Amino acid sequence: MNKAANGKIEIVNAGKIYDPAGIHVVAVENCSFNLEAGQFVSVVGPSGCGKSTLLNTIAGFDTITSGEILMDGELLASPEIQTPPGPDRVVVFQGGALFPWKTVSENIIYGPVIQKNMERPEAEKMAISLLNRVGLTKVETKYPSELSSGVQRRVEILRALINQPKIMMLDEPFRALDAVAKSVMHNFLLELFDENPRTMFFITHDLDEAIYLSDLVVVMTTRPAKVKKIIKIDLPRPRRLDVIKTEIYRNIKADLLSIVHEEALKAFKAGEREMA
Ligand code: ADP
Repeated sequence: MNKAANGKIEIVNAGKIYDPAGIHVVAVENCSFNLEAGQFVSVVGPSGCGKSTLLNTIAGFDTITSGEILMDGELLASPEIQTPPGPDRVVVFQGGALFPWKTVSENIIYGPVIQKNMERPEAEKMAISLLNRVGLTKVETKYPSELSSGVQRRVEILRALINQPKIMMLDEPFRALDAVAKSVMHNFLLELFDENPRTMFFITHDLDEAIYLSDLVVVMTTRPAKVKKIIKIDLPRPRRLDVIKTEIYRNIKADLLSIVHEEALKAFKAGEREMA
């Protein structure tokens, strides 16, 4: 597969008000940060702070009501512009969504074949090569129900990757997995990323996951979402699990924890006020 030549995302003063004339929910306000091409960026912050709204806007499922989002210098989203979803910006959702009636191989090739971006034989060859490369041999003819949930997640990620997107967006993709399956997924994702770096927009509540995987961790404020802090993760790549034992890792974690804790408290208090 080609290396990602681009995929830079610039979020510039983005804002989102849901239902401006009615309940008027200010989900995102003056939010600015960049994802450099080929950078792994995790976004953390209290629930309901607008993380998915940003992801959905980049993906083309939603709009912003102020500001701009650019991809490789071109306007992707503004109050006037919504770029429809496309294979250059793919999303892996938390719940997953493999077609149960299709085999693994048919699931992986479905997008590019239906969009006529690849001929079926070429797509099938690539699907098998992707599966083999990550050690998933002899599963191409299996149905999703025959696979563990961890393997299903891996297939979903390959299904996204076959599009050779400029940016891959993952919204808490491993939330439902146990610690062991999660750790397998992390190494799987890191292997794919190291081999073929592309811009990643990764939403999570798991701070260890954010640090272990990312180049940058963006901490959002409680709603309306702005950037509270951007933490650069200066850990070597390829990442190895024993990095979590290092002092630098522990310091990053302590720093991140105190920032997130401060925001969580604010969110909690805001919630109490709303309920009072
Ligand atoms: P997060 O992903 O950080 O949990 P979201 O982006 O899903 O947050 O939501 C941000 C805020 O916008 C939340 O308060 C949510 O209730 C609100 N919101 C999301 N979608 C809608 C909608 N369609 N209409 C009204 N409010 C919405």
